[in-house]
Amino acid sequence: LRMTRQRSIILEELRKSRIHPTANQVYELVRRRMPRVSLATVYRNLEKLTQAGMVQTVELTGCRRRYDGWADEHTHVRCVDCGRVEDISGGVLDRAAERVGRLSAYKILGHHLEFTGRCPKCERKGSLLKRKGKRRKGDA
Ligand SMILES: [Zn+2]
Ligand SMILES: [Zn+2]
Repeated sequence: LRMTRQRSIILEELRKSRIHPTANQVYELVRRRMPRVSLATVYRNLEKLTQAGMVQTVELTGCRRRYDGWADEHTHVRCVDCGRVEDISGGVLDRAAERVGRLSAYKILGHHLEFTGRCPKCERKGSLLKRKGKRRKGDA
């Protein structure tokens, strides 16, 4: 893949952000450095970078597709309150894949597993609101 200036900036911003942004969020990030870039261009380049294996997409239930500048294998955990997605590095699933392969006699090529939880920030906020006795929804 030819690394045009646009592509390098997209990749750079993606790697810097670590929030697993949607295409729209990538667009917002990139626009600060390239004010004239269009959303369509960002989409197209994200597509190319994904095909080249430099970016991976994160598909999570009930969420828009997100992009990840780190293409190495890692697991994601998503907060059910604010929707943030964080990385868990290390092959937490290596053993599981091995085992599934053994049990099914399939050659396992990949997996799609999603952990959900509540991030420390939301958890703190949740217990604070509960203590005040007025837990509101939607004021993230
Ligand atoms: Zn959260
Ligand atoms: Zn990730």
